[in-house]
Amino acid sequence: MTTLSYDVIVVGGGNAALVAALSAHEAGARTAILEAAPKAYRGGNSRFASAAFRIVHNGMEDIEPLIHPDWKYLAKRARLVPFTKERYANEMLETSRGHCDKEAMHVMFDHSYDTVKWMRDQGVRWKLALSKFFSEDQITQDVVDINPGLCLIADNEGIGLTDNLWAAVEKSSIDAHYSSPAYDLITNGDNILGVRTRQKDGFVDFKGQVILACGGFEASPRLRRQYLGQGWDLAKVRGCRYNTGTMIENAISHGAQATGHWGGCHAVPVDHNAPAVGDLRLTDKTSRYSYPFAIMVNKDGQRFVNEGENTFELTYAAIGEQIAKQKEAVAFQIFDQKVLKTLEPRYSTATPVVDDTLEGLAQKLGLNVKQFVDTVREFNAAVPKTGQFDPFHLDGLSTGTKLAIPKTNWAQAIDQGPFVAYAVTCGITFTYGGLKTDPYAHVLNNEGEKMPGLWAVGEISGGFFAFNYPGAAGLVKGAVFGRLAGQAAARRAKDQNRA
Ligand SMILES: Cc1cc2nc3c(=O)[nH]c(=O)nc-3n(C[C@H](O)[C@H](O)[C@H](O)COP(=O)(O)OP(=O)(O)OC[C@H]3O[C@@H](n4cnc5c(N)ncnc54)[C@H](O)[C@@H]3O)c2cc1C
Repeated sequence: MTTLSYDVIVVGGGNAALVAALSAHEAGARTAILEAAPKAYRGGNSRFASAAFRIVHNGMEDIEPLIHPDWKYLAKRARLVPFTKERYANEMLETSRGHCDKEAMHVMFDHSYDTVKWMRDQGVRWKLALSKFFSEDQITQDVVDINPGLCLIADNEGIGLTDNLWAAVEKSSIDAHYSSPAYDLITNGDNILGVRTRQKDGFVDFKGQVILACGGFEASPRLRRQYLGQGWDLAKVRGCRYNTGTMIENAISHGAQATGHWGGCHAVPVDHNAPAVGDLRLTDKTSRYSYPFAIMVNKDGQRFVNEGENTFELTYAAIGEQIAKQKEAVAFQIFDQKVLKTLEPRYSTATPVVDDTLEGLAQKLGLNVKQFVDTVREFNAAVPKTGQFDPFHLDGLSTGTKLAIPKTNWAQAIDQGPFVAYAVTCGITFTYGGLKTDPYAHVLNNEGEKMPGLWAVGEISGGFFAFNYPGAAGLVKGAVFGRLAGQAAARRAKDQNRA
């Protein structure tokens, strides 16, 4: 058995892990990263992400200095109001129905801006998210309002984010061990002494303070079936294949406390032909988030959600589950010619079904033709006759109380053929249940006490999100707590080395 000693051991190779490792290294710790994936597939779900970061800010005066010089020109076309703690807190409380960890949430708000600034100094290139959700030529106004919660994105998205963080790791003296899945904590009672990895030629023990940053259990069909329920074992996985919950189960078996919404997950509409597990050639390009400007129907030709309840980033993470509940876990987003220009650029990765008539479209899609045509007619009869469609804001174009399932914004008649349909299914992003920590990422045991030498950051920690999620809060959560845990673990290692 080989044993290697470090000050700080970081388990995982995604955003939370890389930030934690860089932070521990900056604080003077001899640091190692244990990544389950081989080098070519390092980076976890973070590599697949759009890499938008939802941070607290005071408007363009805060954001402009973060933007990489290559992208400053876009700032001239954008108007940006502040994104306040109060607004963020309301979103977190509403989306989680009050089940988020309120103390930890405020720690995240307080550190979100400084953390992305620090990441810029580590080499992450930031830009405005303006051209992600609309292509530059879709923006016809000289100046547009950008969504203040969804304004910051890494250049080249998750690939750029993780490449730049890994580049910073490689420039440092941090040791990266690939194909090194952790499978057991080395403990003495509640004290964590290190972690055991399973490698090709045997087990290797790593001694030091342990930061677990190895994701949720979304890539395990067994745990999905066990905790999320029937049908979830067969769901498409949007990200990497490595987040199988091994260290969640292992830490719990050593006395760590489980917390949060174990029956819930972040799941979104994805292309019906998306691969079973994320493909790095496609990353997030199979996501289908333009449904607020469409209607969505199931195989019976019936609507089943309020497509316009809010801007997409406050509804999309809960809509995947609604699609999963439909027959064959399939739905169809139906657009007419009026709104086609609002489609996110990534729809170009699929070939839609198109027909001049609603009947013809329904036949091609294999829907109940009469029911589908009735659904569209009923919908068209309920849309308001006045008002201005505005894809950049909640426009209040609502069907009101005329339909059993209303559409409360962007409700326009589907009446200008040819009609266009995209088939979608449910794709799981990450799970909400995980390890219980204090508000600074220190893992707590079943009795509510800190487990000395153990931190959990990123999606392995539970109790932060439930039911739904404000878009782009996942990466900032991982980065903020990763940075804090890296500092705390380095401090503890220093104290132990001194003693
Ligand atoms: C398509 C897509 C788009 C997204 N877009 C956004 C977005 O724009 N903004 C946002 O905030 N969030 C987004 N997310 C969510 C975001 O990616 C996650 O919240 C974030 O990546 C979680 O980071 P993490 O470091 O906790 O986990 P990950 O990045 O998944 O990293 C986990 C790491 O742990 C490793 N690992 C797993 N098990 C072990 C083990 N036993 N031993 C060692 N290593 C192990 C994995 O290989 C991986 O490297 C998106 C996700 C997807 C899939």
